[in-house]
Amino acid sequence: MGNNMVIIGGGAAGPSAAAEAKRNNPSLNTIIVEKGKFVSYSA
Ligand SMILES: Cc1cc2nc3c(=O)[nH]c(=O)nc-3n(C[C@H](O)[C@H](O)[C@H](O)COP(=O)(O)OP(=O)(O)OC[C@H]3O[C@@H](n4cnc5c(N)ncnc54)[C@H](O)[C@@H]3O)c2cc1C
Repeated sequence: MGNNMVIIGGGAAGPSAAAEAKRNNPSLNTIIVEKGKFVSYSA
């Protein structure tokens, strides 16, 4: 079982942190927990 990273918040910072973590360690399991209905998006 690999390493896990749980990120609280799916606004701008959360997905950025997840992407950077995966770039540094592609085998990392990342989970983003967002309390709202939507995660960050860029139109
Ligand atoms: C009125 C307004 C207008 C803005 N306009 C612009 C603009 O035009 N252009 C621009 O570049 N920036 C703009 N900003 C700034 C931009 O919104 C912020 O800089 C950016 O959203 C910060 O991102 P963040 O991920 O740090 O925080 P947030 O975007 O606040 O994301 C945090 C997330 O964490 C979630 N969360 C909080 N607590 C929990 C919990 N306990 N469990 C799970 N999830 C949780 C929240 O639901 C939220 O989705 C604006 C800000 C405001 C207030």
